Amino acid sequence: MAPVGRGVVDCLPMSTASSQLVIGVDVGGTKILGALVEVTGVGALPDILEREQVASSGEGGDVVDRIESVVARLVDTAVIEGRRPEAIGVGLAGFVDRRGVVRAAPNCPGLVGVDVAGRLRERTGLPAIVDNDANCVAVMAHHSMAPDCDELVAITLGTGIGGGIVLGGRLVRGATGFAGEPGHMVIDPAGPTCPCGQVGCWERFASGHALGRLARVAVAEGRAPEVLAAAGSADAVRGDHVTDLLASGAPGALEIFAEWVGHVATGLANLILLLDPGVIVIGGGISAHGEILGDLLVRSLEERFPAAVEGRDVQIVMTPGGPEAGAVGAALLGAYQVRPG
Ligand SMILES: [Zn+2]
Repeated sequence: MAPVGRGVVDCLPMSTASSQLVIGVDVGGTKILGALVEVTGVGALPDILEREQVASSGEGGDVVDRIESVVARLVDTAVIEGRRPEAIGVGLAGFVDRRGVVRAAPNCPGLVGVDVAGRLRERTGLPAIVDNDANCVAVMAHHSMAPDCDELVAITLGTGIGGGIVLGGRLVRGATGFAGEPGHMVIDPAGPTCPCGQVGCWERFASGHALGRLARVAVAEGRAPEVLAAAGSADAVRGDHVTDLLASGAPGALEIFAEWVGHVATGLANLILLLDPGVIVIGGGISAHGEILGDLLVRSLEERFPAAVEGRDVQIVMTPGGPEAGAVGAALLGAYQVRPG
């Protein structure tokens, strides 16, 4: 009979007795990244021993098949070296309930209702756990930045905005398990509609996707000729065209980016006021531009949100582990599931 782990991990240990070999998988809208990870102790980045990456199609059954094949290859790699992983963790962008079942997943709608962890347990005989991908980034940050980050908020800025909240060293899950979805906080009741059914959600303004939307508006108004030239046509403008021009100092790109960062700051100010974190961790592809992003964020918070800033000392950092943080965080959740610490 396949081992059955607890549905979710809440309490994050501050010590690990010995090293653990685990598998972490980060399921995104375009790719699936799997990692064979050695977890040795808090306060350090876990070692990635092997990576497997495949495209994710967005279709349900096919995505689960691809996750299974990535995991199977990593198990094989470990076995060839005479070892066996202890557990599997999977992170994905979506609303994951307290039993680890996906209830909504805009980037992988076919995963909704699918017991991914159960499939992996059956296939490998290993304990498996599924969680929200931003929770995985929060867990990764908590582990690698220990012991000074028991109060942290992780935000992932990608197609949408994900959130993972750690308070008092515990992942905050809420009554249904859906806590930490700040992307759908409404910041402008007159804003654009969101696929979630609301109007003016934060992620319509401050996700990586929204940077492209702001850029297209700027180009249409003739404010960013450099961005238009880089994209070739107004319809082709994406957020990448803006960020690629930041290093060159192109005024139009800098103006669009500063406008977008202002929207990021609005949501962060609300989160600071609500949760009083000591650390805010920024993840997602945009974190590659962390230096300019961090500087502009701090400036925007100080200029516009004194109630959120004064009397506090919130650190804003880019996620440890970069683009692999989600996979490593998923692996950590797998490790914590079998050895809670
Ligand atoms: Zn929304």
